[in-house]
Amino acid sequence: MGEFELIDRFFKRPVQRAVLGVGDDCALLQPTPGMQLAVSTDLLVEGRHFLSTVDPARLGHKALAVNLSDLAACGAKPLGFTLSLALPRADERFLAPFAQGLLALADRHQIELVGGDTTAGPLTIGITVFGEVPPGQALLRSGARVGDDIWVSGWPGEARLALEVFRGTLALGAEDFAQARLAMECPEPRIALGLALRGLATAAIDVSDGLLGDLGHVLRRSGVGAELALARMPRRALLAGQLAAVQRIAWLTGGDDYELLFCAPEGADAALQAIATQTGVPLHRIGQVLPRGAGLRVLDEQGSPIDLTQLAGFDHFKS
Ligand code: ADP
Ligand code: MG
Repeated sequence: MGEFELIDRFFKRPVQRAVLGVGDDCALLQPTPGMQLAVSTDLLVEGRHFLSTVDPARLGHKALAVNLSDLAACGAKPLGFTLSLALPRADERFLAPFAQGLLALADRHQIELVGGDTTAGPLTIGITVFGEVPPGQALLRSGARVGDDIWVSGWPGEARLALEVFRGTLALGAEDFAQARLAMECPEPRIALGLALRGLATAAIDVSDGLLGDLGHVLRRSGVGAELALARMPRRALLAGQLAAVQRIAWLTGGDDYELLFCAPEGADAALQAIATQTGVPLHRIGQVLPRGAGLRVLDEQGSPIDLTQLAGFDHFKS
């Protein structure tokens, strides 16, 4: 199978929203007049961002999900995306389920694959997403204000449990492992939540590298400090059943959650609970924005500050 046959078979579909899709030198997108274009790119490399044993359908899903998650964090509505693929070989048993997982998520968010590039090489997946947002309404990392509440969506930390099982440092029963693995391999981009947070959240980020590290980006960009309370962290049976030390690692440094972490003015609880109901995504208030001098404090379940020097956000050049 040559490059063009491969593209035709797995990635070329008629476009409905775009003006021009796969097959020409450029794709043509038609943003709504007056809207700003939101653009984000993520690169996934085998062995670094995913295991070679991962189910290709889940890999296709995740490759797009992590990109859509960036649009969600900005409050942008998805328009289209491109796919750059380096493949060791044109293997139909990989390409068919990969494309199926990728395009199924795309269909659910009414976003079209409009172009890309394909080459031989070590398995690498680069996606660029395009979205739109009304001028001045994008959610940024820089808008947090002292006194804001800090919120997080979903069930952060579960994905990290699966990673620890793969690393051999944690044992989980079959059902728990399946749940953690689903969180790690099939994150759900919080697009509807991001759109609903426009005009309400003062700052937002998606949790990809660990909650503490990602919150740190918001604090630095906003020039503020913060306090988080572990007692308020969302937990289902899976995380509730783990040792306190495992919970801390999972909540605070566990990457790959793709939940939204955001700040909102004090007193927005009712509005946010309504958004949680409307989107079907649970929201938890986990802390508060403080003056910059407070730094970043995390209180344990008893309310005492914990030593954060033991924990470090996942850094791609450290491990
Ligand atoms: P060019 O020579 O202009 O780079 P290519 O021959 O690489 O074009 O690609 C042909 C067409 O197929 C282009 O429209 C390109 O956007 C599209 N394309 C290539 N690879 C992919 C892919 N992995 N997914 C979707 N579209 C692709
Ligand atoms: Mg090309």
